[in-house]
Amino acid sequence: MTDVIIIGAGPAGLSAAIYVQRAGKKAVVLEAMTYGGQIVNTPEVENYPGIQKISGFEFATALYEQAVSLGAEVVFDRAVSIEEVTGEPEEGQPTVKRVVTESGATYEGYAVILATGAKNRKLGIDREQELTGRGISYCATCDGAFFKGKTVAVNGGGNTALEDAMFLSNYCSKVYVIHRREGFRGEPKTLEALRAKENVELVLNATVTRLVGEPKLSAVEVTDKITGETRSIPVEGLFIAIGQEPENHDFENVVALDPLGYISAGEDCTTGTPGVFTAGDCRTKAVRQLTTAASDGAVAALAACSYIG
Ligand code: NAP
Repeated sequence: MTDVIIIGAGPAGLSAAIYVQRAGKKAVVLEAMTYGGQIVNTPEVENYPGIQKISGFEFATALYEQAVSLGAEVVFDRAVSIEEVTGEPEEGQPTVKRVVTESGATYEGYAVILATGAKNRKLGIDREQELTGRGISYCATCDGAFFKGKTVAVNGGGNTALEDAMFLSNYCSKVYVIHRREGFRGEPKTLEALRAKENVELVLNATVTRLVGEPKLSAVEVTDKITGETRSIPVEGLFIAIGQEPENHDFENVVALDPLGYISAGEDCTTGTPGVFTAGDCRTKAVRQLTTAASDGAVAALAACSYIG
């Protein structure tokens, strides 16, 4: 029995754990993969207030160690369902929630914080899955080193794509950045730095329409969205960085999801289900950043602690 069960050990979940522990309550954090969430794949974080530059992995490790040193228990097991424990609650206590994990373990607590983050969006074209690990990657920091001296492409126009392209341009002989529009969502400063790189070429208004190569990727076919013309670009690697999608379906019987699958919740991180809170990229929100995930963690933790009383 614990006070708050936190599902997800990314920046939102671990920040929530820090705030729960410092509020004098006990947090158990359940994590399906490794701690840190998406930020572990970010080569350099330069926009977290108070830290000029840090790798995503270092940041995540420091956050994890901080939560653990404060007494949070982090368990590496996937939460698969949440149920209300029936029967009369103890005098003056809220009802108990039970979280069941993939391994069959159960955890009981008075409040749950869903901080499940989001996973990489797939292009959804033929052979994408087959060629994943054979040229296709969703993580430049993890796999970039395999492409030293080679020609690669990055698909996407957000911060992840721009930062991945910057990172890869230091290893690879040539980096194409394929983006479906003229304008980028990523920070202008990173785009400017990328444009200044001699081994980077932007391929704009273009989508990847075919993956070529047997048994490994050897080229991508891109289609110009304006002219409709196709072009084959020989590459050994394709880094897909086209955003994220939430993974909240296991909990749709407990909390309402918006049409895109994010947990419907406002800035107060309450879900409409008593005792269930949410934090970070998994909830409906306008800005999904490290700072907003950490901030949500604090808000959700304090709301959960005040709910428990
Ligand atoms: P994102 O900002 O959502 O950008 C996704 C990009 O992929 C967009 O340019 C989008 O194009 C494109 N895209 C989406 N679906 C596509 C499809 N089916 N085919 C082709 N292109 C597609 O995602 P992100 O770059 O992963 O970033 C997610 C969040 O994390 C953002 O808030 C970002 O700022 C943040 N982030 C921050 C840092 C940092 O602070 N250091 C690092 C990485 C990410 P359109 O623009 O045309 O929609």
